Amino acid sequence: MLRFLLIFFIPLTLFSAQIKNFRWSDGDTYLTFLERLHLPAKPLYYNLDADDQKLTEEIRGGVNCQILEDPKKQVQQILIPVNDEIQIHITKDKDDVTFEVIPIISETKRESFTLIIDSSPYNDIIKVTKSTKLAKIFVDAFKNSLNFKNVHKGDKLVMVYDRMYRLGRPFSMPELDVCMMEMGGKQHYVYRFKDDRYYDETGAELEAFLLASPIRNGRITSGFTLKRWHPILHKFRAHLGIDYGARPGTPILAAGNGTVVSCGVTNGYGNLTKVAHSGGYITLYAHQKAFGHGIHKGSIVKQGQVIGFVGTTGLSTGPHLHFGLYKDGRAINPQSVVRLAASRLSGKDKNAFDKMKRGLNTLVNQELKQGTMPNSFLKLEPVCYADANGKQKTNAKAISTSNDDADN
Ligand SMILES: [Zn+2]
Repeated sequence: MLRFLLIFFIPLTLFSAQIKNFRWSDGDTYLTFLERLHLPAKPLYYNLDADDQKLTEEIRGGVNCQILEDPKKQVQQILIPVNDEIQIHITKDKDDVTFEVIPIISETKRESFTLIIDSSPYNDIIKVTKSTKLAKIFVDAFKNSLNFKNVHKGDKLVMVYDRMYRLGRPFSMPELDVCMMEMGGKQHYVYRFKDDRYYDETGAELEAFLLASPIRNGRITSGFTLKRWHPILHKFRAHLGIDYGARPGTPILAAGNGTVVSCGVTNGYGNLTKVAHSGGYITLYAHQKAFGHGIHKGSIVKQGQVIGFVGTTGLSTGPHLHFGLYKDGRAINPQSVVRLAASRLSGKDKNAFDKMKRGLNTLVNQELKQGTMPNSFLKLEPVCYADANGKQKTNAKAISTSNDDADN
């Protein structure tokens, strides 16, 4: 893990000003970041409304951020992505600083590659793509259906996926469309359907993640959204979880089996517990009145176990549970995952799946014939700053010379 808080990779010449890229370090907080850059916390944090303050707690380790400096090395602008759709934009003009939430301008490309196994799928994918994320996605997709110990040198794999680009670099997690593993001449496929779940060739689901509601008889008072334009406040908001209204003291239940990875007091989310589950999932329980008996960092919890009690600590207007779900660090809608068991597609869904499968199989076969190499990032890209309407404010050329840090 990167220990340094600011690691500058590529100084980019932007006429007189300079853009520095840095990676948000795991465990860094927004307030310590402001302090380090000698930026005033009052206008950039304490004077913000509760939603914007909570958003600053959603910045995730490893994300690529940008600082625009003037020739005297004074900070002019900072961009910090919060999720796949919005970013924090700080501007500084002499003593005047502003905080706003603006949309991320990104482009999604479908990419594919094929490779012949030399050591193992995981190692070979990293060697060829320089991306641990792609390697992880591939291995995850097959983990319930294939034993990679039976993969031998000379076997083949194909991967087709969608990758988001921001400021010319890969951004966030790529999304698998289809992957194919050919072992001893036999082909095995995994497809991602429109419900974001993985299926085999027959339309049977491969991965069942069990998540139950974290509260009994809870009433949803606010749903999940990655980006929403608030028509009255005239700003962008995000709500990276579900709010359940409930009486203070109502027990909060662990949504699945897992390990408590953090349990303590935060500014925005008040008394906060995070539980890590298998498959890269983390659930988050905020604004608690009190933690459950014996719940602390490192506790092993069972699905349905009481881990805390509903309250209104932190930036909260009334008693409720804010329940968040993250997969590989990305906030996802908890409602999309709450279910009982793995399913098999049928009816209209099966027809749609078969149609999608035919299209993707054509791509895989093209890959097998052509054997394209993974996309390279060595190219000129425009650097864009967007205003609240998504319009570009400035535009400059930047040269990306390395993809070591591009994989976030
Ligand atoms: Zn909430």
